Amino acid sequence: MLNGACLCGRIQYEITGEPRFMYQCYCGKCRAASGASFVTNIIVDTDRFRITAGKESLAAFESSPKKFRHFCSACGSPIYSQGEKTKQVVSVRCGTLRQDPGVRIAYHAFVSSKAPWVDICGDQPQFPDWPDPAVVRQFFTTSNGA
Ligand SMILES: [Zn+2]
Ligand SMILES: [Zn+2]
Repeated sequence: MLNGACLCGRIQYEITGEPRFMYQCYCGKCRAASGASFVTNIIVDTDRFRITAGKESLAAFESSPKKFRHFCSACGSPIYSQGEKTKQVVSVRCGTLRQDPGVRIAYHAFVSSKAPWVDICGDQPQFPDWPDPAVVRQFFTTSNGA
C-alpha cells in the first residue's frame, strides 16, 4: 500500500497494489501546473486509487477538453489528473508520495516541449509528444502482467 498527501496535509490518498508504470512529462501544461521543469507521474488503475481525506478541498481544472487536473485548493499541490478517454487510470504526481512506488521511469513524453535548461538523463525512450497507444499498452503489460 502506498499513500501520499498534499503540502498542507488536507488531502490524503492511498494506492492499493502496484502502479502500472512511471513516466515523465515535459509539456508546457504540466510545467505550468507544477511550477517545476517537468513532472514525474505514476499510472494507477482508477479503482486502486482512493482519496481518504480532504475530498472537499480537492479542486479540478480542465486543462484539455475532458481532462482534469485535480489539486488541493488550500495549498495548491497537484495530486492527480484523469481524462475522459483514459478513465480506467489516473496519473498521480509522484512528488506527493510518501513511499517509493517501486516502479521507475518507463519513458519521457512531450520532449519537444522540454524546457531549454533541462538535460534528460537515462536511456529510457523519449517521445516528442505522447507515445503511440500501442507503445503505452506495452508498458501496461510488462509491469503488471495484465
Ligand atoms: Zn493541501
Ligand atoms: Zn504534460
